[in-house]
Amino acid sequence: MAGLDLKSLQKSYGAVEVIKGVDLKVEHGEFVVFVGPSGCGKSTLLRMIAGLEDISGGELWIAGKLCNAVEPRDRGIAMVFQNYALYPHMTVYDNVGFGLKLAKTPHDIRDAKIREAARILQMEHLLERKPSQLSGGQRQRVAIGRAIVRKPEVFLFDEPLSNLDAALRVDMRMELSKLHQDLGATMIYVTHDQVEAMTLADKIVVLNAGVVQQVGAPMELYQRPANLFVAGFIGSPKMNFIAVNIEAMGEGQLTVSGRDLAARTVSSTTAGLKIGDAMTLGIRPHAMLSQDAGPVTGRVALVERLGNETNVNVELPSGAAMLAVLDGDRPLKPGQAISFGFDPAATVLFDAAGQARQGAV
Ligand code: ADP
Ligand code: MG
Repeated sequence: MAGLDLKSLQKSYGAVEVIKGVDLKVEHGEFVVFVGPSGCGKSTLLRMIAGLEDISGGELWIAGKLCNAVEPRDRGIAMVFQNYALYPHMTVYDNVGFGLKLAKTPHDIRDAKIREAARILQMEHLLERKPSQLSGGQRQRVAIGRAIVRKPEVFLFDEPLSNLDAALRVDMRMELSKLHQDLGATMIYVTHDQVEAMTLADKIVVLNAGVVQQVGAPMELYQRPANLFVAGFIGSPKMNFIAVNIEAMGEGQLTVSGRDLAARTVSSTTAGLKIGDAMTLGIRPHAMLSQDAGPVTGRVALVERLGNETNVNVELPSGAAMLAVLDGDRPLKPGQAISFGFDPAATVLFDAAGQARQGAV
């Protein structure tokens, strides 16, 4: 069983700490996605698991074995990179089998493994081609094939789709999901694309500046983000944030208001808070409802009519921007006044430290 256990894992380059004590359990067969902005440490963390970077502190356990000092090739893992450097002079068949040949795997076993990988990846008809005769998606499949023939217990992917065009990315995403189902292997996948994270993951790990912000199932993170960072990162289009202050406090609820919001009562934990404290109210664009004399009023700045829905960019009284996604076609005009309501149960309230005080469900 190839689960992983990361205990206070830490990485520094000289005086610069890049991974700041990551604790994480990955179950056998799980598809885990590391997501976060560029430079947050995703690749470094993955490379530490692979054994391509030394571990500065903490413990890395793979399949019940402490692996801090274990050679990469002995960790039972295979890694697929964004730049899937294939050997240009070799056929697909030889590219896929190259590692096995190096390991002196007997010819008939090697042949069977290559053909099995080609069958799984539906590229049996491509085996005699050279990389230059393949599309980007086909090359990426060859790179994955190279990983499959090694029968690893854990697959590591570092942004494997980011060199592909948008339509192909969607196709490959579905293929990867299917591959995961077929192989039942543990997979750890790095991306900066929250849509990839939402669609592929059993479990998402949101990283920022080398610190885990939240770990959970995609819908858990979407519906109950732990803090402002996760709330702003997960979900597309992005959650709206409205600056408010506490006007009144009750049992498990707060009444908040601000320049951009008439007083509204929402459920919240109240410990450590007092009247007047600054808070942030988060509302997803899809939760905004066009309504006369609603609590949020502004001016239409820009309208995008998509037919099935309408994106309305609104300038609020404070000058802050807000986005509402309304059902159907709304022939609104820039400059006109507009007012919105929302279901208080679909909001998330954050305190001044950016921690969620109550999550939408
Ligand atoms: P991500 O994959 O999330 O974009 P990386 O893991 O590649 O981020 O990098 C995380 C941070 O570590 C970045 O700030 C990067 O500049 C730094 N970093 C990566 N490799 C090195 C290195 N060899 N020496 C010094 N700093 C590095
Ligand atoms: Mg990276």
